[in-house]
Amino acid sequence: MDMNSTLVSSRSVANFSLWDKMLEKRSILKVQLEITARCNNDCRHCYLCLPSADKMALENEPTLGEIMHVADEAVKKGALWCTITGGEPLLRKDFRDIYLGLKRKGLLVSVFTNACLLREEHIKLFRKYPPLDIEVTVYGITKETYERVTRCPGSYDAFRRGLDLLLENGIPVRLKAMALRSNVHELPKIAEFCRARTKDYFRFDPSLHLRLDRDPVRNEIIKSERLSPEEIVALERADFERFNALEKGCDKLIRPNMCNKQCNHLFHCGTGAGSFVLGHDGRFRLCLSLHQPDCVYDLRRGSLADAWENFLPRVRDMRSDRKEFMERCRRCSIVNLCIWCPAHAYLETGEMDSHVDYFCQVAYARARSIMNENRMEANSLDPLPAGVFLPQQKR
Ligand code: SF4
Ligand code: SF4
Repeated sequence: MDMNSTLVSSRSVANFSLWDKMLEKRSILKVQLEITARCNNDCRHCYLCLPSADKMALENEPTLGEIMHVADEAVKKGALWCTITGGEPLLRKDFRDIYLGLKRKGLLVSVFTNACLLREEHIKLFRKYPPLDIEVTVYGITKETYERVTRCPGSYDAFRRGLDLLLENGIPVRLKAMALRSNVHELPKIAEFCRARTKDYFRFDPSLHLRLDRDPVRNEIIKSERLSPEEIVALERADFERFNALEKGCDKLIRPNMCNKQCNHLFHCGTGAGSFVLGHDGRFRLCLSLHQPDCVYDLRRGSLADAWENFLPRVRDMRSDRKEFMERCRRCSIVNLCIWCPAHAYLETGEMDSHVDYFCQVAYARARSIMNENRMEANSLDPLPAGVFLPQQKR
């Protein structure tokens, strides 16, 4: 044997062919369990939360039995890991049973929590039966900023106590932040705080989705928390790792020739590819944001097998011949820099095939910034849709 030959090579998980094979077989890889819409906080930007004692939300929540049944079916179809999310999952009185039930099925379990309700009993549980990770969002690192976002007095002290408990006990934690009007002044300090406490790459998200219930009053509050396109680009440029990734992927992110006028499918993203959501109301969704009534399936009247094998392919096959869609988002050269997708378009406009002015502005600002850096000709970009202006442009 040639001793110099390489016996072992490494490959990133995303390039591991088993994943492709499982996707080809239409296996389920991951389940997102949105076990409640209720939350102890009332964050200004939240797309879902309802009060802790909301009666209707409580009545609609998937029961322990329903969650276990769906998890069982998903595991039979290949599921390897799951995320427990909300609302705030720790509000569920049966959180321990849900968590242990999923672990017993052999699933790798991640938990998304605001950490405010964490107690010693949860720590004991996580130490004995470790999660894959616990993901915590940091809304601010001062009481004033944190509680301006959460609108819940006392939440900052509770969050710090919960986070310290996790870290002191060696539970794997991932931290992230939302970039909001209410905390943007503190964002560099939030990043410092997070990086000092975890080894994981810290990420912040400036993309605020509107409410799943389409509540107009709450939606106005969310919009008031959105940063301007310039602020988003400036934040992304200041984040070395993030901007580097954007720049390196530049040729994939900006594709002037991507126009494919033949194809009128709505969905070109990965929604429903290897994963699904069991929603806070017991319904099956392809992803967390896709809430359009024709795209959700009532698992209480059907089965996961029917949802996965029959309903999901029908949703993925949905099309639109609308002129606006075919001329804009469907052939957009910078769609990969945009948070546009049929789900977000629906939340913003009530239609899955409309463009969204704010999304356009952010995507174009990103594209220009990357193109400047790469000395690419800005005029190779498609013009902005009629009536949409970058903030610095005169009307
Ligand atoms: S902590 Fe999370 S789920 Fe609760 S209100 Fe805030 S964003 Fe929503
Ligand atoms: S919203 Fe605007 S930038 Fe985004 S995909 Fe549609 S046309 Fe392109």
